[in-house]
Amino acid sequence: MKRIAVLTSGGDAPGMNAAIRAVVRGGLEQGWEVFGVRQGYAGLMGGDFVSLSARDVGGIIQQGGTVLGSARAPEFKTEEGRKQALANLEARGVEALVVIGGGGSQSGAYVLSRMGFPVVGVASTIDNDLYGSETTIRVDTALNIALEAIDRLKVTASSHHRAFLVEVMGRDCGYLALMAGIAGGAEVIVLPEVESDPEEVIETLKAAYRRGKAHAIAVVAEGATNNANELMLYAQENQKRIGFDLRVTILGHVQRGGMPGAFDRLLATRLGVGAVERLAGGEHGVLMGLIRGEILATPLDEAAGRKKPLDLGLLEMARVLAK
Ligand code: ATP
Repeated sequence: MKRIAVLTSGGDAPGMNAAIRAVVRGGLEQGWEVFGVRQGYAGLMGGDFVSLSARDVGGIIQQGGTVLGSARAPEFKTEEGRKQALANLEARGVEALVVIGGGGSQSGAYVLSRMGFPVVGVASTIDNDLYGSETTIRVDTALNIALEAIDRLKVTASSHHRAFLVEVMGRDCGYLALMAGIAGGAEVIVLPEVESDPEEVIETLKAAYRRGKAHAIAVVAEGATNNANELMLYAQENQKRIGFDLRVTILGHVQRGGMPGAFDRLLATRLGVGAVERLAGGEHGVLMGLIRGEILATPLDEAAGRKKPLDLGLLEMARVLAK
């Protein structure tokens, strides 16, 4: 093999740059030329390639986001779009592709692989719902950002005897809300995976005060039926009866930016190097992930389109510990 390419796709993530750096420098070590593809699958279809040297990826390991840019590119779901992408890879003599991204991106990688092109995926999503990796690039950093916010809000909540709703990212998956809720010591956790009743949420917050707590915090996933806006509306409509002040903080994209922490830098680096090693060994059509502490490959036909379920036993544990 002489040439490979790397792209980042889906939501940007602190740690993606560490993975790009690892793929580029690992590839150069193999004697390959490494191209970066700008703006994910959009750049693959548009032929937006740039040859990367070791120096080009210098000083990026500590930067959030992705120096290659990322995009949502629905045209890649069409046969025409993918054929154009393959033609662009062929035109530059690229023989393999590394796709750094989440579930959707890995489905794209799988389709390319089924079309006969060698692809290796690197697991990167805030949702941590990818089958084939116990955790993914960005989860740890995002969790620490959410925790910092929760810890700060707890101080204010205690000083003013106010209840706070903190909404964290997670459209379909409540992993971040569940873990932030447990590690932040929340009184209530609301997830997309579990039906919730607004009255029960309010009652649980009130019960925390009755038990003598100085604060009451609910961590809510954005994709929950009763997300922060819904719960706030309910609280406003029933304010007199509820009898306490409810404040909402929506963390939103704040959780996406920032410098990657040590864990994400190391995970991304190991996954990127792992991807190159597999390609060098002639293996492809796999997703690189962390399994029991090791960087292992799972076939894309097993991983793509398959969601890792949330351990809902932890929700019960959180309830018990919120006493
Ligand atoms: P995140 O977890 O950050 O949302 P993601 O990789 O799941 O990341 P998506 O927006 O779902 O993000 O997917 C990113 C891109 O991958 C899409 O814009 C599209 O180009 C491509 N993609 C998604 N699903 C498919 C599919 N089934 N077939 C081909 N390409 C796909």
